[in-house]
Amino acid sequence: MLHRSPPLRSLAAVCLASFVLAAGLLLAFGSFTPLWYANAVGVVALLRHPRSTWPVLLAAIYAANALAFSFFGDGPALLYAACHAVEIGLVGFLMQRFAGMPGPLLEGTRFARMAAVFLLVPAPSAAAAALVGAWTQAVSFPDAFQAWYLASALGLLVGGVSLLGWTDAALRKAFMQQLSRRRTAMLVGGALVCALLVHERHHQAAIFLTFPLMFAVTWYFGLLGATAGLLLTTLSAVIETLQGHGAFTLLAPPGSGVVEGLESVQLYLAALLLSSVSLAVLHEKQNELTQRVRSAAQARSEFLASMSHEIRTPLTGVLGMADLLAADELTARQQGYVASMRTSGRHLLCVVNDILDFSRIESGRLELEQAEFEVPELAEGVRSIMHPLAAERGIALEIELASPFPSTLVGDALRIRQVLLNLIGNAIKFTSAGGVHVRIERRPGQEPDAVWLHFEVRDTGVGIEPDQLERLFAPFVQADSSISRKYGGSGLGLAISKRLVERMGGRIAAESTPGRGSVFRFELPVGVGRFLQPAAQGDLHAPPVKPLRILVAEDVETNRRILQVGLERQGHVLAFAANGEEALQQVQGSDFDLVLMDVQMPVMDGVEATRRIRRLGGRGAAVPILGLTANVMAREREQYLAAGMNDCLMKPFDWGQLVAAVARHGAGLAAAPRREAGAQILAAPTLLDAPTLAALAEMGDPQDVEALLRRALDSFGPACARMLERAAGAEGVRREAHHIRGTAGMLGLRAISEQAGRLESAPDAADVEQQVVALRETMERTIELLLVRGVITRSSVRQHGGAATARVQMELGG
Ligand code: ADP
Repeated sequence: MLHRSPPLRSLAAVCLASFVLAAGLLLAFGSFTPLWYANAVGVVALLRHPRSTWPVLLAAIYAANALAFSFFGDGPALLYAACHAVEIGLVGFLMQRFAGMPGPLLEGTRFARMAAVFLLVPAPSAAAAALVGAWTQAVSFPDAFQAWYLASALGLLVGGVSLLGWTDAALRKAFMQQLSRRRTAMLVGGALVCALLVHERHHQAAIFLTFPLMFAVTWYFGLLGATAGLLLTTLSAVIETLQGHGAFTLLAPPGSGVVEGLESVQLYLAALLLSSVSLAVLHEKQNELTQRVRSAAQARSEFLASMSHEIRTPLTGVLGMADLLAADELTARQQGYVASMRTSGRHLLCVVNDILDFSRIESGRLELEQAEFEVPELAEGVRSIMHPLAAERGIALEIELASPFPSTLVGDALRIRQVLLNLIGNAIKFTSAGGVHVRIERRPGQEPDAVWLHFEVRDTGVGIEPDQLERLFAPFVQADSSISRKYGGSGLGLAISKRLVERMGGRIAAESTPGRGSVFRFELPVGVGRFLQPAAQGDLHAPPVKPLRILVAEDVETNRRILQVGLERQGHVLAFAANGEEALQQVQGSDFDLVLMDVQMPVMDGVEATRRIRRLGGRGAAVPILGLTANVMAREREQYLAAGMNDCLMKPFDWGQLVAAVARHGAGLAAAPRREAGAQILAAPTLLDAPTLAALAEMGDPQDVEALLRRALDSFGPACARMLERAAGAEGVRREAHHIRGTAGMLGLRAISEQAGRLESAPDAADVEQQVVALRETMERTIELLLVRGVITRSSVRQHGGAATARVQMELGG
């Protein structure tokens, strides 16, 4: 075998430590000393270095011991040093073979095997040394054996375990991580009390009190804490005994001296260490088990998340196909089949979504948004969804804003809304007479830029039994099995709510009197946003303008329709082009007052068409061109203006702005380009853009607006199905998403537009399916909201809303 040398620094440190310890103890007590810690250093040095370095290490340790014996010991130094070296080598070897060291110290039965090696191996070496002593120094063999054995075995036990602990990087790291200032003070305090107890002269039996103290130190600080405490206790005990006082001299046989006293100290320390280490092993096992349970829970959540994701994707495909099927010519019977297929599919989607949501939160993968929102708008959104459900059950639903909300707040409005909808949904579900009262209040927080939002949902329903109340927020809990038959639900709603509220830094609780009703309360901290100004009215009511001849160049048919309805209502006369080339031809052929030019179009885009129009010469070249674009980048806007556009409006645009811009440019009053227009795109994540809808409602007949919305919404479902099929690849996804975004934006369907925008900007992302699924859900929620607001009617949303409402009804057992 090739013998390598350990690093010089380690070699020097081991030699020095062995020599100093050996020299000190030999100087104090002679060759048969009652304390011997030098071998513990040697053994740990071997175990912390590769086997190939052992011969060199052992030779060095032997030399250090021999030197110490020859200067400070008595008797044959080389033979005694050899006994120690053999003992160190043998212990090192057996520790590797039999105890599997080096390895995690507290793993399984390793510690017991280690203790056995420490206690057994010194027996032969003590016998050899006692023989040498009897032969060369005429000492009594039994006395020499006992002294050597006790010093070696107990020294290995106490010193070896401590040193192995402190040289274990993992244990050291865990120990250091635990040490806060308060805990360090506790540890030092505990160790000091142990040391003082040993020092106590009047009640010597007090030394036994060190046991519970040491256990406490071990419980809180593990093995390293125990050995740190032991070190102080050892120092105190040795000093005390050397002075001939203390409990340990009393524990030794009557009439005996310091040596026997120190042997008692060793025994006492070994007992203390062995009992503490057993506790440390237990503690370690408990940590390991906790860790295992945690990772099992994590694995379960991840499994659930990936399973429900796997189910969601094909399910959305199935629903998309069902949407396509429903749009075909079907017999009444077939329509019935498709309708129930879609209802069941959506219900399944709800349950799967709940599971996905829950497992996402459990595995810590839920991301919270921080965006501005308005509480009155949040409350109105919730009311408009829940009111019809309450009305259907013949109960009242009141939402009270108990404080003024002069500013926007910053937080995850969608998640707050989710919790609120769940609590109110439950309250309505379990109340058959009376009503549900929701109270929202704002209270000051501790930090100046934060406030707490308090929500209370009070019902006069069936109430909850006390034993049920305790388990209410645990997953999959329903009062009894008949609940899911009668009312539906997955039993996950409250579990999700609790976790969401806690993730947002808040808390949730419930009180209930069976038969009288329940109260659910939650509160959470939110940031404070900007102060709200009263809404500007100017642009929405732009003065009437002279009728203009306007060319609309826009490739998406729905968008053309929207612009037509809005602008014809103002008295303008419209012509249409489906791409840039057509626009160019039309400008050449007729006389327009204004061109509305979409930027992104097939065949020839709006920028190129503008450039060519400007190069035409004649009157046509001077026509004001108003660009319509969804590109928010300032640089791109500059390019459009450089190409010859007079102004550029961001999609989704504000109708008031459009009307004003048309009036300005059509009348030749071209104003400076409005560079801030892009800001509106980054609005808070609410479902609808109220001003756009209001402007739409003002500009067209309600039927026209409804027809526009219906047409748009009808086109979104199949577009989602096509995106999922990905027949046309990433480009196809981008195209579909682009159309949805533009159309939804113009109609004030803000959340749909924003989500489609995300898909459009990354059509080849790994999570496209997931995003399409989310988009579909947003559509469902938007339809529900439009339905309950009466913007669209049930008959107009045969395709989507019917199923959405059916889902809500089904959950209510309606
Ligand atoms: P689910 O999705 O099944 O409604 P939840 O976690 O939201 O699950 O609710 C769990 C159970 O708690 C319900 O099945 C019901 O037994 C009980 N519960 C929740 N809210 C109320 C309430 N307002 N009144 C009476 N019982 C309630």
